[in-house]
Amino acid sequence: MGGMLIIGAGLAGLTAAETLRSEGYEGSITLIGDETHAPYQRPPLSKGFLAGETREAQLTMRPADALAGKNIRLRLGTGVTTIDRTARQVTLDDGTTLAYDGLALCTGARLRPLPLPGADWQGVHGLRSLDDAKAIVAALETAQSVGVIGGGFIGLEVAAVARKKGKQVTVLEAADRLMARVVPPLISQFYLDLHTSHGVEVVLGAMVSELAGNNGRIAAVRTKDGREFAADLVLVGIGIMPNVELARTAGLDVDGGIVVDACGRSSDPSITAAGDCTVRRLADGSLRRLESIQNAMEQAKSAATALLGRERPFNAAPWFWSDQYDVKLQMVGLTAGFDRMVTRGDPATRKFSAYYYRAGKLIAIDSLNQPGDHMNGRKLFDKGISPTPEQAANTGFDLASLLA
Ligand code: FAD
Ligand code: NAP
Repeated sequence: MGGMLIIGAGLAGLTAAETLRSEGYEGSITLIGDETHAPYQRPPLSKGFLAGETREAQLTMRPADALAGKNIRLRLGTGVTTIDRTARQVTLDDGTTLAYDGLALCTGARLRPLPLPGADWQGVHGLRSLDDAKAIVAALETAQSVGVIGGGFIGLEVAAVARKKGKQVTVLEAADRLMARVVPPLISQFYLDLHTSHGVEVVLGAMVSELAGNNGRIAAVRTKDGREFAADLVLVGIGIMPNVELARTAGLDVDGGIVVDACGRSSDPSITAAGDCTVRRLADGSLRRLESIQNAMEQAKSAATALLGRERPFNAAPWFWSDQYDVKLQMVGLTAGFDRMVTRGDPATRKFSAYYYRAGKLIAIDSLNQPGDHMNGRKLFDKGISPTPEQAANTGFDLASLLA
């Protein structure tokens, strides 16, 4: 008997291991991670940890003895190199082989590299891991000017922290608006105004052509139109690539992520997958990628339950958040394809929510410094209740009354 193996000791891996136990599995559980740190939270890396408000010890997800107490074996600093599905065993990078009855792939994602000259100069950073964040914290101590390539979540959160630390900050975004992958134009414009009002130079439509340096150190970012932006620290935040190589080599269905169903099942009945490494096949056959804490946790619970032969589909509306300066953005649902938007509250006050509709049905809500709207929104989605646009826009109407 091989027991349960989980590859990847991030949030999804940890959640899968603990779910197996809480669901009553009594066999052996081994959680294998190639990082040397015990499972830690990534969101504070671009927020409180970078700002110096959150200490390293606060990032750890469980006290040192908590996993041992659940009889979960944690093997850190060890990568899995191959999966043999016929023999039902994996090989580790030290040559050891481990047999499994059930396998959960929670391998996460890695940074998309910037394929340009100078991308390896000293002073050029990416941010995915605790070690990356520590290197940026150290570099920020002496940096004067910070160039941020990519105006997505990572780039903008780092820009906000660097600006709060008094650095000169330039954000270079290839698209014509900020966070274009996740928010509609109204919210992009809000964040452009927010960063500009804090003194960040935001360059949209920026085609970065070269990172220029002296003696191995970054000095400036150049764009195709001939402009040059001084930077002694550059943060590249241009998205991620799911870690799918293990799954692909093992012959699993992979299409921009390990393809799973609502229960986290892969194309092999004894293998499930969860988190940033996956893409979910929806009922209409289309594929959906989510890169978020909620997705990693909920999918991992489903994936672990599926390994025990039970169904726990994850169908809740997706939610996300981002902290920049004193603005908390909370999102629920997905805005793709909306045909009507109404706002609740005045954007000029930096406290409002945008409600998005498709064919008359509420599909998403973005709340800025309005946690009550967000929490009500999650409950509305859970119950399948769609307020009318008029109700949503009317601050005098209590949306919570629809939940009663
Ligand atoms: P990961 O956290 O990437 O964990 C996967 C682990 O598997 C890694 O440790 C990896 O090294 C390891 N691994 C990979 N391959 C192997 C192998 N072959 N053998 C052994 N180990 C392997 N989401 C939000 O919802 N809100 C936020 O505010 C937010 N902020 C973020 C800020 C930052 C700086 C970052 C980087 C991400 C943020 N996210 C946020 C995204 C969120 O952290 C991820 O969606 C989540 O961590 C995904 O969890 P995961 O377990 O799938 O993957
Ligand atoms: P992202 O959201 O994909 O944003 C990357 C941005 O960089 C996109 O706007 C992209 O534009 C742009 N870009 C790509 N190539 C570029 C180039 N050569 N020059 C300039 N801009 C370029 O990814 P991310 O911000 O790097 O975040 C990485 C991961 O961390 C994601 O999974 C994200 O969800 C997670 N994260 C989440 C949070 C949060 O939820 N609050 C915070 C931090 C990180 P195109 O889309 O046009 O390519």
